[in-house]
Formats: sequence, C-alpha cells, structure tokens
Amino acid sequence: MRILVAGGGGFIGGHLVKSLIADGHDVRSVDVKPIDQWWQVHPGAENRPSVDLMGLDACRSATKDVDRVYNLAADMGGMGFIENHKAACMLSVLISTHLLQAAVDNDVQRLFYASSACVYAAEHQTDPNVTALKESDAYPAMPEDGYGWEKLFSERMARHFREDYGIATRVARYHNVYGPNGSWTGGREKAPAALCRKIAECVVTGGREIDVWGDGEQTRSFMFVDDCVEGTRMLTDSDVVEPINIGSSELVSINGLIDIISDIAGITVERRHDLSAPQGVRGRNSDNTMIVDKLSWEPSTSLRSGLEVTYAWVLDQVRSAAGAAA
Ligand code: NAD
Repeated sequence: MRILVAGGGGFIGGHLVKSLIADGHDVRSVDVKPIDQWWQVHPGAENRPSVDLMGLDACRSATKDVDRVYNLAADMGGMGFIENHKAACMLSVLISTHLLQAAVDNDVQRLFYASSACVYAAEHQTDPNVTALKESDAYPAMPEDGYGWEKLFSERMARHFREDYGIATRVARYHNVYGPNGSWTGGREKAPAALCRKIAECVVTGGREIDVWGDGEQTRSFMFVDDCVEGTRMLTDSDVVEPINIGSSELVSINGLIDIISDIAGITVERRHDLSAPQGVRGRNSDNTMIVDKLSWEPSTSLRSGLEVTYAWVLDQVRSAAGAAA
C-alpha cells in the first residue's frame, strides 16, 4: 500500500514508519520540522520535511495518491507542555480537519487518528487507586482542558466523516507512550523520559537528587512504543469503528516508576517533591476489556523491560550532550 504517515518526524510516527517499511509498504512521511530535527529518518521512505499540515493545500499534496493515512501529527508534549500551551494544542484541530477533508477529496480509503486518554472526564480520575477508564467514560464530556477537547472533537469529526463521506476512520485513545527516539529534554518530554534523564544525569555527574513533580503518589500506566505501533496497525486494519483504548494496564505510581528506573541505573536517588508543578489527573489506567474483546490483543511489554531499553537510550543522549558541552 501507499501510506502517508503525518507526523513521521515525531516519536510514534518514526517508529510507525519503520514498521510499515519493514513490511514492504510504500511510505510517505511528512512533518513540519526540518529533517535534522526528526527523531528517525528512514531512507526507505519518501521523506517530506518542513511541511505544515495545518494548511488544506499541504494536506491535499500529502494525501495525493495514497491508500491510507495515519495521522500522528500534533503540537503536543507532556503535562508541563499541555497545561501551558492550551491554544497551541487546540490548533492541531486544523491538522485533523484538513487531513480528513483532503483524504476525502483524494479518495483515500482509510484514515487512522491518534487520540488520547486525555479525552476522559476528569471526575473519573481523582483517586490514585483508580478504576481503569473504559471507552464509555469519555461522555458526558469533561476532557483535559485544551489538548483533550481538541482530541475529543477530532475523534467526533473522524466519526462524522466516516458516516457522511464513507472514508473508513479508525481512532485509538493512546495512554502514555514511552520508548527511545522521542522527546527526553526541552519541555515536551513525558514522565518516563524526564525521569530517565534526571537519573541518567545523576549517573553522569555524580549527583544524587532529583526533582519530582507532585508527591509522586499519582498513578498512570505507560505503554512501550512497540506495543503502540502494533496496536495502531491492528486497529487500522480492523473493522472497529468506535474509539478504543490502546494502553498498558500495568498501573504504577510516579514514585514506583522512579524505583524501577533507579534500579535499572544502579543508583539510589533522593527525591525533592515539587508540589506546585503540573501533575495532571490523580490516577489513570487503561481498561482493556474492549480491545481484548475486539482485537484479541493488548499491550504486553512489561514496564521494566520497556524502561531498560528507554533508559539505555536516554543515557546515551545525556552522555552525548555532556560530551558536546565539555
Ligand atoms: P511527537 O510530538 O513526537 O510527534 C508529533 C509530530 O507532529 C512532531 O514531529 C511534530 O513536528 C509534528 N507536527 C506538529 N505540528 C505539525 C504540523 N502543523 N504539520 C506537520 N507536522 C506537525 O508526539 P508523539 O508522542 O509521537 O505523538 C503522536 C500522536 O499521538 C499525537 O497526535 C499525540 O497527541 C498522540 N498521543 C501521544 C501520546 C504519547 O504518550 N506520546 C499519548 C496520547 C496521544
């Protein structure tokens, strides 16, 4: 198939492009960033850097002669980014709108949209001892302000484009994805990469203290990127039309996450808890009943083994950065 990956210079997009090429697909990878800022550049793909998919013409050109679109392009980051850039996050609606419109104009058969667990109503996420979120919990709607509203609206738009224009849209609600080749510093990184970096910096500099956002008792589940790519491809190939969770159901507190990473790094660190830092919801996990029912599959990489790979990669980045600064 000829496939467009929108946001191919990003974290999940880069891993998806690699997987699609490995299976012999003809991949066009498009991203707004210049190519030297892409996390992965795959020579086997048709790479189109510096293309802003907020514009309809850019989307028409990107979707020309493709059978399928994976939309992973969005202006996003971890909690520190989305709590402070609500307008920028909402502007990603231009990407999802114009990609859908252009895909219909160009007779694209199928489009995948990357939504998020941030669509879930906050009232279900106030307790660290969570009841996992099931798909129906998204309504009545009270998503994460900014980023979550954009995701919920774009999900809904994907549904109506399917119903009104016949394009086969598929929507995943990703729960915190982590792995190598993604943001690890600079403000867009999420908790696993940020904590790997802080602990790796201790290893490199001999420090033994790290800052932790909140009291560390907030809980989450984290999905390794290989599982995310596998689930994304299975869902897109399937006939499941309703938005579905793609997330790990292995619940961990932020303090528990630090314990695992410290153990992998082979050091013990003191924690300075910053109670004024952004923390997001108190507890969140993925209820995987629906995905197991529909796809007979769920993410299975253990947090420990995924973090081993991620920590090793982040440590390399920290060492290279320290070497460059020296
Ligand atoms: P990422 O930031 O690494 O990748 C997104 C890519 O989109 C970036 O490379 C960025 O340059 C590109 N982009 C942004 N604006 C663009 C534009 N106007 N035109 C073209 N490209 C543009 O993020 P990611 O972690 O790979 O996330 C991919 C998708 O999955 C996003 O839609 C995100 O909201 C969603 N998601 C991710 C997570 C997660 O934990 N990583 C969780 C839930 C949902």
